[in-house]
Amino acid sequence: MRNLLSALAGVLFSIGLRAQTIYDTTFINNLKEQARTAVAAKQKGVQEMVDQIFSYGELGFQEIETSKYLTAFLTKNGFTVEKGIAGIPTSWMARWGSGSPVIALGSDIDCIPKASQKPGVAYKDPIVEGAPGHGEGHNSGQAVIIFAALAVKDLMEKNHLPGTLVIWPGVAEELVGSKAWYVRDGYFKNVDACIFTHVGSAWNCNYGDPGMNGLVSVKFSFDGEAAHAAGAPWRGKSALDAVELMDVGWNFKREHLKPTQRSHYVITDGGDQPNVVPSKASVWYYFRERNYDDISSMYAAGVNIAKGAALMTDTRMSYQIQGTAWPGHFNKALAQAMYANIKKVGYPQWTDADQQLALAVQKLVDAPKTDLEGKPIHGLRSDLDTLKGSVPFSWGGGSDDIADISWNVPTIDLYYPANIPGTKGHHWADAIAMATPIAHKGSLYGAEVTAMTLIDLFTKPQIIADAKDYFNNVQTKEVKYKPFITKDDPPAIYLNKETMEKYREQMRKYYYDPSKYKTYLEQLGITYPTLTPPAK
Ligand SMILES: [Zn+2]
Repeated sequence: MRNLLSALAGVLFSIGLRAQTIYDTTFINNLKEQARTAVAAKQKGVQEMVDQIFSYGELGFQEIETSKYLTAFLTKNGFTVEKGIAGIPTSWMARWGSGSPVIALGSDIDCIPKASQKPGVAYKDPIVEGAPGHGEGHNSGQAVIIFAALAVKDLMEKNHLPGTLVIWPGVAEELVGSKAWYVRDGYFKNVDACIFTHVGSAWNCNYGDPGMNGLVSVKFSFDGEAAHAAGAPWRGKSALDAVELMDVGWNFKREHLKPTQRSHYVITDGGDQPNVVPSKASVWYYFRERNYDDISSMYAAGVNIAKGAALMTDTRMSYQIQGTAWPGHFNKALAQAMYANIKKVGYPQWTDADQQLALAVQKLVDAPKTDLEGKPIHGLRSDLDTLKGSVPFSWGGGSDDIADISWNVPTIDLYYPANIPGTKGHHWADAIAMATPIAHKGSLYGAEVTAMTLIDLFTKPQIIADAKDYFNNVQTKEVKYKPFITKDDPPAIYLNKETMEKYREQMRKYYYDPSKYKTYLEQLGITYPTLTPPAK
């Protein structure tokens, strides 16, 4: 397939540097077009995968059906799957190919508590009341990377291109619970570059520091003494008092933290019933800041306040990390390659039905008129942003443990347009678009861009060289990755077990059956879009 000139250039290049093949530009562009066409032909497959995972609606560390489905699909398509990596039963790593470069492709798979919602319906209408649901849109990302990988795998086989594809899931991303453990256990050691994909409402693959916070997630447990709460309260030591005093202490501490911090907690155990002095209680904190040192000092302050609360109540305190994420930093060379492909592919064609749903959802959630950059929020986006580098300043924000990978391997974070702008995030309304044509088209386009970028990475060794140069000489020149976890911190795989067990059987009735129904909307009998509730 390679022409004589490029073969000759390859030989000359090998003499000068090391053995690597230089491919002709026409050959590369041809391959990219073929990759894009091959992905586009899998429109049905993308829709089925997006809908299937939406219907499973599994919380972090309990992605049992999702992982079973994905690993079976990948095995059937020629990948070798290692299951249960890093001590996490629902994690896995799938490989195909041989030699370098080794390109890893990842996307999250878990969902949000109490976010069950019928797709395509612009008012609150849960599939199963109280159950979890894809109120972050993590049901769409695996279709993006898997259908991109399959198209590229075919082309690599036909054209004898060397290289390895590695596919992995972001398990328990909502708990930032897995990726630092993958890194700790060496799963990214021999990876040359990582493409991560995440649902968005616009195209975006910025490089540098996007302004996110990192975090540690820590559970503090207090151990006291039970007693009859009326008969002998003076003989009790309340663990709940310790939790409340810790929270009061932390809320005073807030005044003396930088404005970039975010911290929040939930009381996961507040005792059993009022007439028993609570002998056990626990509170779960997320401590977020913009850099490692500030996160560490928040964490230390939290531990001190917990010790103080234990002293005040004469209880015993212990704590355990549940999750962790570094603040993100993404690779310039990879972003530039990907952005060029985004420009080529552009936005999906939104229909009137898509726009009607988007506008109705924006009204439902009382969306702001503009986003944080001042861009209007009105329906679905179709205007492309420019490619941006590090933010000059950020007030802080959310976190994603992809950052722990991005500080170990050159990584890019692709946001593809598969959801509605202006929603709140982590909310049932964020699930409305996620098994509709909006998510299907956005994910398909995400897969096209990913496939084209993979061809770039497998045929242009200079991109990987530039990516490594940026990683070594810019990103990590002064900041070095220091994990928050040690080899003794286990992944918090027990989280969400009870909640998932409570709802799984009710949810099972609504699992998508693609052998009977064209789409999940069809299975649920939903007219797309349904904008108003039926008249009572
Ligand atoms: Zn996410």
